[in-house]
Amino acid sequence: MKNDNPIGVLDEISRLIKPLRPPVLAFESSIRKTPFRILISVLLSSRTKDPVTKKASENLFSIAPTAGEIAKLEEKKIAELIFPVGFYRQKAKHIKKIAEELANREDIPGTFAGLTALPGVGRKTANLVLALAFNIPSIAVDTHVFRISKRLGWASGNRPEEVEEELKALFPEESWIKINRTLVGFGQSVCRPRQPLCSRCSITTHCLFFKESRRRY
Ligand code: SF4
Repeated sequence: MKNDNPIGVLDEISRLIKPLRPPVLAFESSIRKTPFRILISVLLSSRTKDPVTKKASENLFSIAPTAGEIAKLEEKKIAELIFPVGFYRQKAKHIKKIAEELANREDIPGTFAGLTALPGVGRKTANLVLALAFNIPSIAVDTHVFRISKRLGWASGNRPEEVEEELKALFPEESWIKINRTLVGFGQSVCRPRQPLCSRCSITTHCLFFKESRRRY
């Protein structure tokens, strides 16, 4: 049945992954320091595994814990500190510019428009920062959220922003923040991109991908 009880399915996924301790849970608790630190850590996390992001974030903030101090670092030094996160040179450039912009402000912007106006901050990053730093209902659609939403039949769009809108229509606002954390953890531990561990999954009856693969074999 398509889209039957999506909130119940999301809750079941939460229960399933909790004992598996996917990296995203440790990552989120490690960055919950200040909104600025959350912003930089989320920026670092793009196309990078969570443990690598965590280490890069710790390296950077151990040398320069505030926007003002990061703004004083050379771009090359920032790149050294955050290596080997994906696209570390490009990210160092953006982090330096963001730090310079925010050095004299009390806090980072707390709106989607304000965040996406910062260098290197796109839709996914802004949505995740709004959720983690400000507890504002938002859905960050990364590769895990995109893939699993389609496997479950929750979304059919071919672009992340389409999937985001479909999920917003399907779930009440109070569930939005939970979606990213839960599906990322699920994607890291069970519903992996390749060879998902369907034999260990407790939501097979809700999964279009599973039904389709059974039909084929
Ligand atoms: S049945 Fe397999 S593909 Fe479907 S949600 Fe579970 S792990 Fe993912």
